[in-house]
Amino acid sequence: MRVSVIGCGHLGIPHAAAMAEIGHEVLGVDLDHTKIDRLNAGQCPIYEDGLPELLATHTSSGRLRFTTDITEAAAFADVHFLAVGTPIDADGRSYDTGQVFGAARALAPQLRRPCVIIGKSTVTVGTTRTLAALVARLAPAGSDVEVVWNPEFLREGHAIDDTLRPDRIVAGVPSPHAEDVVRKVYAPLLENKVPLYVTDPATAELIKGAANAYLGMKISFINGVADMCAAAGADITQLTEAIGLDPRIGRGGLNSGPGYGGGCLPKDIRAFTASAEALGALDAAALLHAAEHVNESRPAAALRLVEQTLGRPVTGAKVTVWGASFKAGTDDVRESPALAIATLMQQHDAVVTVHDPHAVPTALARYPQLDYDQDLETSVKDAELIVLATEWKHFRDADPRRLAAFVAQPVMVDLRNIIDADTWRAAGWTVRQLGRPATH
Ligand code: NAD
Repeated sequence: MRVSVIGCGHLGIPHAAAMAEIGHEVLGVDLDHTKIDRLNAGQCPIYEDGLPELLATHTSSGRLRFTTDITEAAAFADVHFLAVGTPIDADGRSYDTGQVFGAARALAPQLRRPCVIIGKSTVTVGTTRTLAALVARLAPAGSDVEVVWNPEFLREGHAIDDTLRPDRIVAGVPSPHAEDVVRKVYAPLLENKVPLYVTDPATAELIKGAANAYLGMKISFINGVADMCAAAGADITQLTEAIGLDPRIGRGGLNSGPGYGGGCLPKDIRAFTASAEALGALDAAALLHAAEHVNESRPAAALRLVEQTLGRPVTGAKVTVWGASFKAGTDDVRESPALAIATLMQQHDAVVTVHDPHAVPTALARYPQLDYDQDLETSVKDAELIVLATEWKHFRDADPRRLAAFVAQPVMVDLRNIIDADTWRAAGWTVRQLGRPATH
């Protein structure tokens, strides 16, 4: 099929590359000329494992092209995927759907061939209905256009695998014909036994919101219990393994740490909470508010652990934060807990240096007030304490004996519980891990 992917960001680029990989002819569309030029030159503007190779393969074969011209996309495609951003609104609680409606306003009047618009962005319940009405109003008379909502569940850092081998595809369809188109576009995945869950658009929209709200609650729950472990001298890592063995709870997504972040979970939970309130589901809203409250308190909880470990306020201390991206496997720093912690310590007059193996350029662009070092070893020079805030393998594999020679004092606070504390202690380090006894 001929498909367009409108919006080439963390979702759109992997989706466009994956659609080419499963055999479609793909045209990616974005307003950002610089990004489109880079993509057409075969360069990948985001860090995502496996994506540069897939882009290179399909841009050089000609199956994948990029443009800023929506008219070209309208003339080209049978299916238009909408993958534009839905950042949180100025009120901090609902989605700014300006990009979604902006893209539809630009596309609809140009639609002269039968097509289906498949929305992938995360939106508030009811958006598909409003968008379908807008498209029907703006499309040329007699045109055959339908709008489907097909929310995306990919995880940054696993975007290619999650797009080619998702746990499930959810499609909120307005008609059997639209369902047929969804089945056709995803046919190679469905042949590989990926389940397709077909529903109405409102349910599809709520499925996405509920999934992310649940994931956020799971993280906040285990972070709250990590506080209990810390106070009781118990071990959160053992507790997590043990409760995760119960299939009703499950081990996935149950890691304690510095809190959830990124371009999705924080805003999706805020927007889903606001939807719950608007729909009068106040009990659901109360649960979600509690999850948000726990998450917002994580930087302060990390600071308390740092100060306990130092034995004094962080003011004036030279601290290195390992990690800038919101999690490993991506250079995305949107709502990154690592940078929230670095910023909080800087506000307390600590002298902070941030190191990350892939995300220093994106962090510098968004958080220019922080100091960065691209090199693992020089980043810890004269540090009195290291805070490990993002779970990169690069940090897990760091050699504590070598690093001890660079620091002012060998002290490590591991907020992700990924280092082997025994090895580090044997190399002379004081190690504190989140929600674990001081010696374990
Ligand atoms: P992003 O900000 O990285 O990318 C959005 C892109 O859309 C930008 O490149 C922007 O220039 C482009 N754009 C905006 N208006 C446009 C228009 N009118 N025409 C063409 N391009 C336009 O955002 P993202 O992280 O890719 O997220 C996109 C959507 O997918 C959001 O709704 C998000 O919640 C959802 N989502 C994201 C992920 C993820 O892992 N990032 C996962 C699941 C769902």
